[in-house]
Amino acid sequence: MIEVVDVQKIYRMGTVEVPALAGVNLSIARGEMVAIMGASGSGKSTLMNILGCLDVPTAGEYILDGEYIGVTSDGRLAEIRNSKIGFVFQTYNLLPRLSALSNVELALMYGRRPHRRASAIDALERVGLGDRIRHKPTEISGGQQQRVGIARAIVKSPALLLADEPTGNLDTRSGAEIMDILGGLHAEGITVIIVTHEPEIAERANRIITMRDGIIVSDTSANGQHSSSSSGQTAQ
Ligand code: ADP
Ligand code: MG
Repeated sequence: MIEVVDVQKIYRMGTVEVPALAGVNLSIARGEMVAIMGASGSGKSTLMNILGCLDVPTAGEYILDGEYIGVTSDGRLAEIRNSKIGFVFQTYNLLPRLSALSNVELALMYGRRPHRRASAIDALERVGLGDRIRHKPTEISGGQQQRVGIARAIVKSPALLLADEPTGNLDTRSGAEIMDILGGLHAEGITVIIVTHEPEIAERANRIITMRDGIIVSDTSANGQHSSSSSGQTAQ
């Protein structure tokens, strides 16, 4: 599903160049659940933004479902995001004045989609919030807000779900509930990629990738073996 080949990302700030990714190679099959770990500033979010077609590499290739993303127009990038990818954010990114239901429905505004209301209610029921659909973000807990965030991410039935530190602002118990939901979505066949600092969260994935200074320094599957995609890469 995902092929990342020697991807580099350099942010230019005036005359200063910040190398955020320094040659990442990665392949992720449909249906995997992958955790990405690494210190702050190691390039995790930059990689997630590229995987999610929010940004494109400075060099190297990103191939999603056989499509070369680097040469894609902004319009096509939006189309890919809209049809294939769901995002979950650490800070939920909900609109504070809207109900849970409206927040989820809003994700269906782009493109022609029938049965918006019914789809949004269904997504909220799937995350266990069927009885909170009229509540605003300020009227529910952080864990519940993140569940609204997940409902919004899955309402379009994406094949790929990207979650950048989804439990970063939550207590252990709410975090575990969020992981139960993400694990359930994975069990339904969605490819799930989660950035986390917490080892106990990462352990819920089949595969743990660790980044340092813009490269992948380890890539380990649940059975303890290095996954084949990391062959040929060396930690330097
Ligand atoms: P992580 O998510 O692992 O904390 P990031 O991908 O956010 O790491 O950042 C990697 C590096 O790129 C850091 O040095 C960060 O300061 C830099 N960086 C990230 N986003 C930008 C940006 N929009 N402009 C300039 N530099 C950035
Ligand atoms: Mg980050």
